[in-house]
Amino acid sequence: MDTIFTAITYLTVLALGACIGSFLNVVVYRIPAGISLIWPPSRCPHCLHKLGKTENVPVLGWLWLKGRCRHCRSSISMRYPLVEAATGLVFLLIFLLYDISLQTLGYWAFLSWLIALALIDFDTMTLPNPLTKSGLVAGLAFQVTTGLLPIFQSGEAINHLFNGIAGAVLGIWLVDSIRVVGSIVFGQEAMGGGDPKLAAMMGAWLGWQSLPMAIILACAAGVLIGLAGRLVGRLQPLQKIVFGPFLALGAALTVFWGEAILSAYREFLISSNNTVLLSLLLAVLLLMLIVMRYLKSRNSLS
Ligand SMILES: [Zn+2]
Repeated sequence: MDTIFTAITYLTVLALGACIGSFLNVVVYRIPAGISLIWPPSRCPHCLHKLGKTENVPVLGWLWLKGRCRHCRSSISMRYPLVEAATGLVFLLIFLLYDISLQTLGYWAFLSWLIALALIDFDTMTLPNPLTKSGLVAGLAFQVTTGLLPIFQSGEAINHLFNGIAGAVLGIWLVDSIRVVGSIVFGQEAMGGGDPKLAAMMGAWLGWQSLPMAIILACAAGVLIGLAGRLVGRLQPLQKIVFGPFLALGAALTVFWGEAILSAYREFLISSNNTVLLSLLLAVLLLMLIVMRYLKSRNSLS
């Protein structure tokens, strides 16, 4: 009986996440295009045929239609069901980590904002202000609510609010500093103007103590992927890579495994011989930067 109940709960969470993912697809498509989110209802972008109830079901609708519009047979991007499935899995993972709690609700909202922003940045190289601003306000509201509940404590709420505001300010400051350093190292503008605003939004949700981890993880992922892309030849040395998706990834990893990463890091610091390892890590990072500079200068000469 228990297993059936658990299975139903997980399936419900997955389905809820997939439905939100379906809405995020609409947000990602419509906000940059300046179309209302509510009207007109979902339709085929080619023939404008309005989607029926069964066609609108996340993931399954796409599978049922075999990836084609029922009306004009033009293909529907596989990204739609993938985003829906991924959002479902993210919702389930958060539920498994935080159970039935305010954190679960809050992080579902936070991750939804992050998925939409990451995809829009990937598509258009912009992070729309209305989304980062509303995300920041929602993050501060989340801080106040977690401070007030479960027992109504106004002092805690103020502490949490301060934590969120400090996180937002730190986010702008950190990403701006990285931008300056990046411009010096690469000799070009390293980031878009929306990135500090996204970092501010992340700071509001995560608080100032957890934000640096998210940004470090984002930079590490950005450097690794950028370097791999250059070595494989998929990216030109001067090609700009969008930083927004990496920031979102760093924030997501912090929500999922922030505590685990932090305690592993603490244990690492306590254990012996770590100075050698740390210096090695720093040397590898420096070497990566030098290789990137070298690849860049070699390309600009040829
Ligand atoms: Zn169509």
